[in-house]
Amino acid sequence: MTSRVDIEEDIVARFAPSPNGLLHMGHAYAAVIAHDFARERGGRFLLRIEDIDIARSKPEFVDAILADLRWLGLDWDEEIIFQSQRFDDYAAAIEKLKSRELLYPCFCSRSDIRAAQSKGGEIAGPDGPIYPGTCRNLCHTEAAQRAKAESHNWRLNVSKAAAIAGLLTWQDERLGEQRADPQALGDVVLVPKDTPVSYHLAVTLDDARDAITHVVRGEDLFASTHIHRLLQAVLELPTPIYMHHRILLDETGGKLAKSRDSASLSVLRSAGADGKEIATNLRNRIFPVGISLSEA
Ligand code: GLU
Repeated sequence: MTSRVDIEEDIVARFAPSPNGLLHMGHAYAAVIAHDFARERGGRFLLRIEDIDIARSKPEFVDAILADLRWLGLDWDEEIIFQSQRFDDYAAAIEKLKSRELLYPCFCSRSDIRAAQSKGGEIAGPDGPIYPGTCRNLCHTEAAQRAKAESHNWRLNVSKAAAIAGLLTWQDERLGEQRADPQALGDVVLVPKDTPVSYHLAVTLDDARDAITHVVRGEDLFASTHIHRLLQAVLELPTPIYMHHRILLDETGGKLAKSRDSASLSVLRSAGADGKEIATNLRNRIFPVGISLSEA
């Protein structure tokens, strides 16, 4: 398999927001970092709208994202990419994974999962408790029969995928070489009940399809990279270099939340604030009152 690290090529980075809310200062910081990373190296910067969650994605949020980025003085190359136009691609990869029996249907409700976790001892993962694996060992006939009648998620059988993939590493520009721990998030859902594909699968396929050489994104997504690296291995996709940058925190030390509209870039923009000045301040690590950068 070819690693992007071995190839002499132009840098391609991307910003990949989900249009399910208004962008805030944390997104502005992430966009500036990814944009400048590409531009400072003479590379290309792509904008990918991650609108796979049809129920929560809204055109007005897409419009606000574009207006916010322009207001910050950030430009991107080529046509804007919309994940909602790539469902066929995702379906093809899903079929491939199913045909290799790397996915299994999971019929557990949230309360089933909670009950199994409290019985068997909950394992905490970075994104919440890890799925206890209840449906992993259902026999084929039972799983196929229930799948006809009951709604279900499709989960990745991580142990099986990891056994095929072997030892996996990736290069992180800030954090150095990393060894993938595929079990970090447990058997993640790759096809949710109510959406054609999950974030993990779509983002991994798209970073390959868009020939992203450097995935520059916040360290809050670091744990996801363990799964993305595993998916690259089983789907025979190239591995980009990663750069998980520090993220902005609020007064309580928590991640800035998308739900707080009052703190959105749109509100600042409408109030006449200077977006380019804000971008310059972010570059110089000058943050609004109450906002700080996560620890190194
Ligand atoms: N769409 C994801 C988000 O808005 C980011 C994806 C990524 O950078 O990998 O959180």
